[in-house]
Amino acid sequence: MKSFATNITEIADEFDVIIAGGGPAGSAAAIAAARAGCSVLVVDRGFHPRQKVCGCCLAPAGIEVLSQLGASSVLDGAQHLSSVHLECGDRALTLRRLGGVAIGRDALDESLLSIAADSGCRILMGAVASFDVDGSVVVRQDQIVRTIRSRVRIAADGLQGTSLDGLPEFKWKISKSSRMGFGATVDSAAIELSCEQILMSVHRGGYIGAVRLSNGRIDIAAAAHPHEVRGAGGVAALAARWLGSYVRSTALLESAQWRGTPLLTRRRGTFAGKDVLVAGDAGSYVEPFTGEGMSWALATGSAAGSHASAMILASASAQQWPNIANRIVRSSRMRCLMTAHLLRHPRLLRIGMQTAQFFPSLADRVASAFGSNLDATIHSGIFTKPAP
Ligand SMILES: Cc1cc2nc3c(=O)[nH]c(=O)nc-3n(C[C@H](O)[C@H](O)[C@H](O)COP(=O)(O)OP(=O)(O)OC[C@H]3O[C@@H](n4cnc5c(N)ncnc54)[C@H](O)[C@@H]3O)c2cc1C
Repeated sequence: MKSFATNITEIADEFDVIIAGGGPAGSAAAIAAARAGCSVLVVDRGFHPRQKVCGCCLAPAGIEVLSQLGASSVLDGAQHLSSVHLECGDRALTLRRLGGVAIGRDALDESLLSIAADSGCRILMGAVASFDVDGSVVVRQDQIVRTIRSRVRIAADGLQGTSLDGLPEFKWKISKSSRMGFGATVDSAAIELSCEQILMSVHRGGYIGAVRLSNGRIDIAAAAHPHEVRGAGGVAALAARWLGSYVRSTALLESAQWRGTPLLTRRRGTFAGKDVLVAGDAGSYVEPFTGEGMSWALATGSAAGSHASAMILASASAQQWPNIANRIVRSSRMRCLMTAHLLRHPRLLRIGMQTAQFFPSLADRVASAFGSNLDATIHSGIFTKPAP
């Protein structure tokens, strides 16, 4: 594993591709671009290993992208998942959902970035990237500021990224009915939960999910209307209330390190500029119920890295990127938006759950459809849709 802690003073003045963000989208973009022969700089404002609010369930589509990138080793030791147990009011339903894994974001993100480093990318941690109107990237690390140039810039800095703040055409459009996210990784004794099963509990103002990681600890992630959080007196109290009889120790929940996110459902004004491509959550995001965000990030990131290399060879242009990015996530995002709508009407969901009990194999098929494939036909050959 190569070191990430490159000092800003040791970085060259110019790269083929600069990527803001070293999460799944940024690392996938870096690996794809480096393997296509580009010189790549990844800038991340954090330090690994780091925690991130996430349900930590990687769907089969994301696993497929990792395999196409030659990065399947990042999942060594991940917890295999076999079912999802859904609760809403007095209704409960267990559905088969094979093929996914649970993996902590500290482990996944650090290993993926290591593969980018091993592929020849320079990785600058603890540094903030800002895309300038003149086509350069201003990078700040501690008190040092440098202006670095590249032929293509990729924004993969997530929901809370700041790299595009100086480019008004990329301004966010945030859904008025959006919910915020919160989560924590808690002690294994905090709640009752079997291995291999995702627990999802839906309530009027949001929902909460929990899954056991391979080290025994439990990842909890939720989406809630901000007034639900305020009304409950904070995220730990709301988590305890929504997890109900599964809670074994409220004290362990309260002492966990909870993190929050801004409003989740959002989209940028555009996904591309003259030399800018946007990938992963930095482009758009829908509420996380179906657990596909990492898959979208890996797929759009990998495609952005390939597209950047094609732009450098002058065989592609940035103008083509919004269509490609949209095509990759379109149908899966649509399913996710419809699910988010259904979740705002728990009565409808309960009727759906009741009906599903009479058609168990159909219900299993629907549950497995989430995250099972992405409409990706990416030109580079790094990620191509399998033949039917
Ligand atoms: C409650 C919740 C539950 C979820 N559950 C799941 C799930 O079960 N399964 C799933 O697949 N997805 C889930 N997701 C979604 C998933 O977490 C995201 O879709 C995924 O992390 C997106 O990856 P990314 O690389 O685009 O962004 P991120 O993972 O957010 O990475 C962005 C990186 O950019 C860095 N950064 C930000 N600004 C700058 C800057 N200016 N300069 C340099 N670096 C910068 C940050 O430090 C960070 O490392 C969930 C999300 C939430 C909120």
